[in-house]
Amino acid sequence: MVGGGQLARMTHEAGIPLGVRFRLLSDGPRDSAAQVVRDVVVGDYRDLDTLRSFARGCDVVTFDHEHVPTEHLRALEAEGVAVRPGPDALRYAQDKGAMRARLTELGVPCPRHRIVADPAEVTAFATVEEGASGFPVVLKTVRGGYDGKGVWLVRDEAEAAEPFRAGVPVLAEERVDFVRELAANVVRSPHGQAVAYPVVESVQVNGVCDTVIAPAPGLSEELSARAQALALGIARELGVVGHLAVELFETPDGRVLVNELAMRPHNSGHWTQDGAATSQFANHLRAVLDLPLGDPRPRARWTVMANVLGGDYPDMYGAYLHCMARDPGLKIHMYGKDVKPGRKVGHVTTYGDDLDQVRERAAHAAGYLRGTITE
Ligand code: ADP
Repeated sequence: MVGGGQLARMTHEAGIPLGVRFRLLSDGPRDSAAQVVRDVVVGDYRDLDTLRSFARGCDVVTFDHEHVPTEHLRALEAEGVAVRPGPDALRYAQDKGAMRARLTELGVPCPRHRIVADPAEVTAFATVEEGASGFPVVLKTVRGGYDGKGVWLVRDEAEAAEPFRAGVPVLAEERVDFVRELAANVVRSPHGQAVAYPVVESVQVNGVCDTVIAPAPGLSEELSARAQALALGIARELGVVGHLAVELFETPDGRVLVNELAMRPHNSGHWTQDGAATSQFANHLRAVLDLPLGDPRPRARWTVMANVLGGDYPDMYGAYLHCMARDPGLKIHMYGKDVKPGRKVGHVTTYGDDLDQVRERAAHAAGYLRGTITE
């Protein structure tokens, strides 16, 4: 797996009982996954020779992020390396402009959008063009964004200057007046076998995923089936292999629009470690190795995952003890990262029959670990 973050750490963990030998390409020896994987190559994923020597001896290469240059992936494929997901699919998770264009071609519902060259074009998009609904509009750099970095809500032409400073193409989108955000997560193997997890609700705070509720409360069976079918269709049409997260907006008139695609294990699927018969990490590995996929069904009526962000106290140990003692049913997943304010350093999961209680337990533990709740 290329990338040494928490996704690689948890994928490695899921591979242990499957007997998978796991090699990691990590930026540094202290990265989250590099701390636990034995076979680690430290190197730069942007360098083709590093990727080549890393891939030598691997049955398959997969990713914990989407930042490996597409041309390097093509070069590896041409040299006979099994790259999964392959560059023809992955490019749509790397470039939001390419993703929007392809999904629109496929008839997948998306927010109204257009690549814009300068602030004047943003104004035209917002106020003049057909379907224009005025400011504010959302601007996104097409590459390199994550956790809300690379996304701006702009209220006028003057504010639209900032996103162009990065020198990367900018995508303008209507601001969707959504009821909530959902994610439809599916896994597909090279054989074309696919499974769909229950559709979840993801709650974002300041552009960062805060809580995920599985299944999404109150979601009609009809809309849930539609969202799953949409995600399975995207996986098939784009030729995705592995886990695909389709981030969605649910609109007040009962539609779903696609926000983003991620072709790797995803934060909206962390709940599956404790809450589903087969986790997203295990199924991602099964898929990229072309093994039969595991059962995606939930194990409890409700599962809630809450991210643990770093707070002002670098030492979380006291809070960690307290949370374990307070709630023996709490599942804690720490990533081995240094605590910095706002950084994702772990997550907690709870499950049970009573949604309010399950939510309260997860929110309490995540808040206590961060230091925003003190009793
Ligand atoms: P990232 O790549 O950082 O995850 P996203 O494209 O997912 O960026 O956007 C981050 C958040 O910004 C979304 O989760 C959503 O809350 C908000 N957002 C993004 N696009 C829109 C839009 N067109 N309308 C309204 N809100 C949006």
